[in-house]
Amino acid sequence: MSNKTYDTIIIGAGWSGAIAAKELASKGHSVLVLEARDRIGGRARTWSDNDKNTIDLGCSWIHGYKEGNPAKGLAKDLGIEAILPQPAEGLVYGPDGPLSSSQAASLRSSLSSAQEAFKLPHPSPPSTTSLASALLSSSSPLFKSDSKSSSDPSTTTVDSTSPANPSEPTSNSTSSVDQSLAEGLARTLEIPLGLKLENVSLKWSGWESTTSFAGSDAAPEGGYQSFVEKVLKSGQVDIKLNQKVQSIKDISNGVEISTSNGEKYEGKTVISTIPLGVLKTLPSSFFQPELSPKLQSIIKGTNVGTLEKLLVKYDKAWWPNSTEVGSYTFLPTSNSSQLDKSSSLEDIFNSSSLVTANFASKSSTLSTPQPILLTYLSETPAKLLLEYPKDKVIKAFHEILVKRLQPKNQVAEPVEGELTNWLKDEYSLGATTTPTIVSENDERSPMDFKELGRPVWKGRLGFAGEHTEMEHRGSVAGAIVSGLREAERVDRLLNLLKE
Ligand SMILES: Cc1cc2nc3c(=O)[nH]c(=O)nc-3n(C[C@H](O)[C@H](O)[C@H](O)COP(=O)(O)OP(=O)(O)OC[C@H]3O[C@@H](n4cnc5c(N)ncnc54)[C@H](O)[C@@H]3O)c2cc1C
Repeated sequence: MSNKTYDTIIIGAGWSGAIAAKELASKGHSVLVLEARDRIGGRARTWSDNDKNTIDLGCSWIHGYKEGNPAKGLAKDLGIEAILPQPAEGLVYGPDGPLSSSQAASLRSSLSSAQEAFKLPHPSPPSTTSLASALLSSSSPLFKSDSKSSSDPSTTTVDSTSPANPSEPTSNSTSSVDQSLAEGLARTLEIPLGLKLENVSLKWSGWESTTSFAGSDAAPEGGYQSFVEKVLKSGQVDIKLNQKVQSIKDISNGVEISTSNGEKYEGKTVISTIPLGVLKTLPSSFFQPELSPKLQSIIKGTNVGTLEKLLVKYDKAWWPNSTEVGSYTFLPTSNSSQLDKSSSLEDIFNSSSLVTANFASKSSTLSTPQPILLTYLSETPAKLLLEYPKDKVIKAFHEILVKRLQPKNQVAEPVEGELTNWLKDEYSLGATTTPTIVSENDERSPMDFKELGRPVWKGRLGFAGEHTEMEHRGSVAGAIVSGLREAERVDRLLNLLKE
């Protein structure tokens, strides 16, 4: 047992824990951060190669950079440059090869109209209705082209977590668009959503667009992991890595934390930033006394999504227009409803909508473009691909790229590759929380995220993390706002306890 009683013990050294720790320390409180991993950052994890090129494998974008995201000010304070990528062409590939820019623009425009049409519809539909049932219905605006013109229809920024960021419409005609291509593009929405359209509640669809930071996106130079490290290390904080917390106990006038390597720590207060995916799996003895049945039921019912990244690095960039194109969107060449656990790697890739960011482009966020492609995998392909060894997935993906991009000459295999597994990572167990899912009896709503952030044990046990912020859940901004919120609350509580 450590003989020091900390004012606050923070569990988790991701974004929310780092911010809460820094804030509380700056107010003169003694703070200990306990982190299960051997590194700081949590879902901020940055890949780098021998040449020190960095690419984020967890969070990568400061969404709404110019629209108030608090990460902007933090980056400025720490002297971290934020890179706003230049707009670049985004190519869309159908089963027969690249679509013309007007065809791609028409598809994007229809998707945009459909998304607008299904934002907070009135009268509100029952909570059992899914976004898919409206978006993919035969009468959906998705399948109609009623667009106006635009000067450069194929131009989008390389915001790969919003891959279906539509460009402006192209013509004044009203006609129908190719249904399977339109659905293929709509399925790219499953990447940022973290789940299938069939599971997204129509009732709450688009609700977050009124609250979350959006508009311009920027990437922190050097990656998000070193950014959060700098934030945490800028405070007078004790940090202990490799400390997997296994119980949090309410004792008189404080809390006792036990870790799996037999250590015990005492604090006046504790803030848990343990991700929702992990909270779902904790034994009931983790919190002593147990959390209320209501809170346990919200933890169980609120959803954590799947989003994985597949990185391939080559000796040289061989793909078309490699210096100009910002991203390649591959629409399925076959039907995804046939996919199951026995599907081949080729079938999984062919049946999925994939968005690939091109780091060889002049518009990439790297200071010197590199022959690297980073592909975003939505729930269906991610879960199936993760059943295979990483090397096989990388090899199969290379073969798919060659088949679809049709280089004139033979191309060598990747020199490096990486496939994330946030889904099975024991300290995240999923990517982030998702928007509200379909549910019986109106059980689920964005209020769940507010409930997950309510303190218990007379305020001595608080919760922070992206899953505790109703307005900004699922983002770095949500983690930061939650950390600030808890730091302010715990500061007030500690000051009261001193009186
Ligand atoms: C692939 C991917 C892409 C993303 N892209 C973006 C993006 O572009 N922009 C954006 O804004 N957001 C993005 N996000 C979301 C963003 O990464 C998260 O919202 C944010 O990092 C969450 O921070 P957090 O502090 O809530 O949780 P975490 O970063 O997960 O921190 C929680 C910490 O708790 C630790 N922990 C868990 N259990 C224990 C235990 N028992 N004992 C001690 N420590 C424990 C974990 O190891 C972890 O370090 C992305 C996420 C993923 C996975």
